[in-house]
Amino acid sequence: MLISDKFCCSLSLSPTLYRPLNLPVINSTDSTANESTLASKKHLLDLSASDLIAWLIEKGHAKFRGGQILHWIFQRRATEFSQMSDLPKLLRQELEEAFQIYVTQSEATVTSPDGTDKLLIKLRDGGEVECVLLRDGTRRSICVSSQVGCAMGCVFCASGLDGVDRNLTKGEILEQMLLLQNRLPDEERLSHIVMMGMGEPLANLDRVLGALGIASNPKGLGISPRRITISTVGLPPAIDRLSSVGIPYNLAVSLHAPNDELRSELVPVNRKIGIDAVLGSADRYFETSGRRLTFEYVLLGGVNDSEHEATQLVHLLRKRNVLLNVIPYNPVEGLPYSTPTKRSIANFRQTLESGGVNVKFRQRKGSEIDAACGQLRRNRGSISSN
Ligand code: SF4
Repeated sequence: MLISDKFCCSLSLSPTLYRPLNLPVINSTDSTANESTLASKKHLLDLSASDLIAWLIEKGHAKFRGGQILHWIFQRRATEFSQMSDLPKLLRQELEEAFQIYVTQSEATVTSPDGTDKLLIKLRDGGEVECVLLRDGTRRSICVSSQVGCAMGCVFCASGLDGVDRNLTKGEILEQMLLLQNRLPDEERLSHIVMMGMGEPLANLDRVLGALGIASNPKGLGISPRRITISTVGLPPAIDRLSSVGIPYNLAVSLHAPNDELRSELVPVNRKIGIDAVLGSADRYFETSGRRLTFEYVLLGGVNDSEHEATQLVHLLRKRNVLLNVIPYNPVEGLPYSTPTKRSIANFRQTLESGGVNVKFRQRKGSEIDAACGQLRRNRGSISSN
């Protein structure tokens, strides 16, 4: 996925500072036996609230302990069961024997000069994903991955270069949110979530919705659905499913081209779908949710940044209640795309604005920062690991 200025995945970061997460990691000196014990434990974050209550009842504990456990993890940022001081000692021991709260390891952290943190997370099976924390005034936004890799194959994206390995579990999605929250001082809270990291969230919709259900629950992270954005390349059946769920998440559709010929080149999955179907399902989402749609458009120098494409975009969008986020491309090593010139950016903007499109251009962060979505994962060998 790619993003607006609020968001992260095309956000450029400077590899100026690598620092370890202040979070539990599996000690590399642990014995193989210990590792296999950990691997045999269930990921607590994968459990539904009803699963957790059923487990508590089976063990002879009161239901309300479930709420206490969630409160400790999501609100009080407990990383170990031993910290849950108002739980009976026996329950803490039983939790310790059965579950892990955190199952991932931090491979690397990159902090940009503006204080944005990008994390490379290693999963239990060795897969790797990225997630990002952005600090902007009082906003504390996070960008979270939904899959290991991505099958959509957008030609300008580092995340999809090797295809998709698998969907993340609900717990792995939630764990990214917690890892990022835990980087904040106690008095700061996460304010916004964008499902716009590695992967196509609508290709893993059930688990994404499961994670967001807890993120938006007051007993979880307590973030309003109106402050949560799900980004998609545009999969109409899944967008319709999202409409039927009836929770007013924001929807961001990655358009990147105003006609099928060019879009199918840039976003290969479009060959089977077509822009009309994408826009139709997006319109239905707007009608159902009432949430203004966002369209994302990565501006590639000499590819989709001409007056012709700007005019076509005007025809597509001017009668729709949408925000168009235009993101001048950040070059990715090994990919043949370049940043558009200042003149073409200005002309593109002028055509859209005079055509009546509600458009916002994301500012580039600076020439010294050049790692886009998926780059940290690809370049991990060249950076410090934690
Ligand atoms: S390849 Fe996947 S992660 Fe990359 S921009 Fe396309 S949909 Fe997003």
